Amino acid sequence: MIKIDKEKCSGCGNCVEACPFGVFEIEDGKIIVKHPEKCRKCRACVSACPNNAIEIED
Ligand code: SF4
Ligand code: SF4
Repeated sequence: MIKIDKEKCSGCGNCVEACPFGVFEIEDGKIIVKHPEKCRKCRACVSACPNNAIEIED
């Protein structure tokens, strides 16, 4: 499960670029978890987020 802390997210879009499976999209300047079913828990997005806003839970 992917959790985004909306308070911490700046909408920078790094996670959109970092995710190899197209899980995230920016909509109206906000990040959305568009395709959670595609997540393979590689945690590239967690590493790419400058604000520690993403948590991947098993
Ligand atoms: S853990 Fe990997 S596959 Fe899942 S959303 Fe993050 S970058 Fe994408
Ligand atoms: S990388 Fe982090 S701060 Fe940037 S859009 Fe994604 S969740 Fe938000």
